[in-house]
Amino acid sequence: MYPRAFDYHRATSIKEASTLLAELGDDAKLLAGGQSLIPLMKLRFANPAHLVDLGFIPDLSYINEDQGTLRFGPMTTHAEIEHSSVAAKIPIVHDCAAGIADVQIRNRGTIGGSLAEADPSGDWANVLLTLDTHVRVASAKGERTVPLTDFIKDAYTTELAHDELIAEVVVKVPPRNNGGAYLAFKRTAPVYPTASVAVQLTMEGDTCIEAAIVLGCVGLTPVKAGDAEAALRGTAVTGKALIAAVDAARTAADPQTDMRGSADYKRAVIGALTKRAIEAAVRRARGEQVQLSHSYA
Ligand SMILES: Cc1cc2nc3c(=O)[nH]c(=O)nc-3n(C[C@H](O)[C@H](O)[C@H](O)COP(=O)(O)OP(=O)(O)OC[C@H]3O[C@@H](n4cnc5c(N)ncnc54)[C@H](O)[C@@H]3O)c2cc1C
Repeated sequence: MYPRAFDYHRATSIKEASTLLAELGDDAKLLAGGQSLIPLMKLRFANPAHLVDLGFIPDLSYINEDQGTLRFGPMTTHAEIEHSSVAAKIPIVHDCAAGIADVQIRNRGTIGGSLAEADPSGDWANVLLTLDTHVRVASAKGERTVPLTDFIKDAYTTELAHDELIAEVVVKVPPRNNGGAYLAFKRTAPVYPTASVAVQLTMEGDTCIEAAIVLGCVGLTPVKAGDAEAALRGTAVTGKALIAAVDAARTAADPQTDMRGSADYKRAVIGALTKRAIEAAVRRARGEQVQLSHSYA
């Protein structure tokens, strides 16, 4: 199906994009890579009267290392992150970028668009919530910085006001004794996951001193598995602690039965992914190079 007719506006700066959004009102939407918005427009689930294109604003696509953080421009594509040696400093970030859909979508879709869309099946929020992540938000009136933990309010709903844009995503580089892993189970590559698990662990020798575990596609927003984290904190990540963390993650999941599987099936998938992701995170925290790939049905 074709989208409804719309007026196209090409912004030349973030300030101009914000001003256009304010002037054009609720019927205006930003266009980044178009990989979420255009399909919704073609299905006529989204019918904006105006599109404000960010694609011609200079310098919105970058990955910079700066004082212990990685800074991502909002128009940085999944593919640019996948192939970046700078982004590879945080292996879980590479896991995420390399596993999103297929090459075509990774070449167009952006980290800013993905966080702004807040799709419950999207990958970026799950991963970035296990890290210390802030979103720099800009409008014609000024800027503010929002922790990612406060940014996503509900399915498809964020903290952004209508005239605000994501101007940058800032991620703290974890310390050396930290390891992370992101694993998803997918029916095929070019579709969203059935379920996914992001794990970040800080280890002191064999003891886990800090844990962050976030589950994807099993709730309206990313699910923080607090009891699973608690099961690992202060203990060796083996035997009983690992089983307790897996059980707690399964319990924390709140999936819907849909075309991707029943709720029980997705809970079982979460259990299997949690175990594998924790084991990979421990190995990475020890300094091992671990290549990971999502599982495909
Ligand atoms: C077949 C298919 C499979 C996919 N599979 C996956 C998958 O497995 N995992 C996954 O994570 N994603 C998946 N995606 C989505 C893809 O990752 C998109 O790139 C992403 O969700 C949105 O990024 P975009 O740049 O395309 O944004 P757009 O589609 O251009 O925009 C999305 C929304 O964000 C808003 N927006 C865009 N940029 C900004 C900004 N800087 N500030 C404020 N608002 C902004 C837009 O107005 C719009 O509302 C898939 C998409 C398709 C079509």
